[in-house]
Amino acid sequence: MAASMAGHVLRQLGASSLLGRNKGAQVTTRRWLNLQEYQSKKLMADNGVTVQRFFVADSAGEALEAAKRLKAREIVLKAQILAGGRGKGVFDSGLKGGVHLTKDPNKVEVLTKQMIGYHLSTKQTPQGGVKVNKVMVAEALDISRETYLAILMDRACNGPVLVGSPQGGVDIEEVAEKTPELIFKEEIDIFDGIQDNQTLRMADNLGFKGPLRQQAADQIKRLYQLFLKVDATQVEVNPFGETPEGQVVCFDAKINFDDNAQFRQKEIFAMDDTSETDPIESEAAKYDLKYIGMDGNIACFVNGAGLAMATCDIIDLHGGKPANFLDLGGGVQESQVYQAFKLLTADPKVEAILINIFGGIVNCAIIANGITKACRELELKVPLVVRLEGTNVNEAKRILKESGLPITSANDLDDAARKAVASIRKK
Ligand code: ADP
Ligand code: MG
Repeated sequence: MAASMAGHVLRQLGASSLLGRNKGAQVTTRRWLNLQEYQSKKLMADNGVTVQRFFVADSAGEALEAAKRLKAREIVLKAQILAGGRGKGVFDSGLKGGVHLTKDPNKVEVLTKQMIGYHLSTKQTPQGGVKVNKVMVAEALDISRETYLAILMDRACNGPVLVGSPQGGVDIEEVAEKTPELIFKEEIDIFDGIQDNQTLRMADNLGFKGPLRQQAADQIKRLYQLFLKVDATQVEVNPFGETPEGQVVCFDAKINFDDNAQFRQKEIFAMDDTSETDPIESEAAKYDLKYIGMDGNIACFVNGAGLAMATCDIIDLHGGKPANFLDLGGGVQESQVYQAFKLLTADPKVEAILINIFGGIVNCAIIANGITKACRELELKVPLVVRLEGTNVNEAKRILKESGLPITSANDLDDAARKAVASIRKK
């Protein structure tokens, strides 16, 4: 899924790394809630942040109705997907662009028909794009200038940081790469809060002049207050723009939320739309398992993100490719092992399974019992290679051996990866 652009920009600038949701490139054990633009904008509007008037529609008829109700001089139609870069995206209906401007409400209907139900591919979507279920129908405003603004938690400064650039619009990564001097940062002291001189300095750096300067500073302050209120890890507004009429407006919105705050942000987390999440990932989360899908054919069943990465690397080293990994975590139950197997084998790409568990807190015998039970009940059809080490490992090995199941055991990680890769080649 889309990685955080603001985090990416900070990384490019050599600041700390923030965990994004970038599959493959990074291994993350935490998933940050991401909302659709219209949901984020509703939160913004409710908290005094300026956004344009809008409705959400899930059919062409509804979009037409919305366009008429807005009574706007011009309408902007925006496909709602979690990934960015929609402006430059392409639909599999042939329509170019996930963001369209039109003055004719009937055109809204025609355009929506080519958006809803089709997949939109952008620089940030997985291959094949993401299916569009909703469009945002908003009042278009002329934009005389597009700037970039984000607030995010940054490890390097142990707290929130304000990031902005007068060069906003579509490609902030490019700005960070080619003209890093055009990216400005303000570190915020979480205890003292955002200071007026900081918001004004940012407004200046973004190039807001005259009465727009105070307006921009005011919007930045409200965005910061919202950031804290909703336990966001990131608020990104690109473009943070100005209109010829002299208004500072947040034209786009991307908010990520800290999953650790779910207990006190129930209303926000209830808006979670999992239709864009890998269904196996959502299913895994139900059992407190972390699943990450990749494109190879060897399923990896591990405990701990570090071991997951090492396992993937060693498979790669031996000429294989991981299909996924499932992280069991610490206090494992036998039933979780069963669920884990069910999830791993549900993926049709999987041609072999490699179990690599290091029993520190985990008792290997529990894992072994879980494995034998799952193998019998699920009638496993692919080769299974198991490497267990640590607490109660001898008992675990005995359980596996006496089970009579066709399980290949391995002595160490290297041996396990070699055997898993070989088990596929044999076929
Ligand atoms: P994305 O970042 O996914 O490409 P945006 O919402 O930033 O999507 O839209 C892309 C571009 O479309 C913006 O940079 C802006 O130029 C234009 N745009 C977006 N919203 C409006 C609006 N309300 N009125 C006029 N133009 C808009
Ligand atoms: Mg944008």
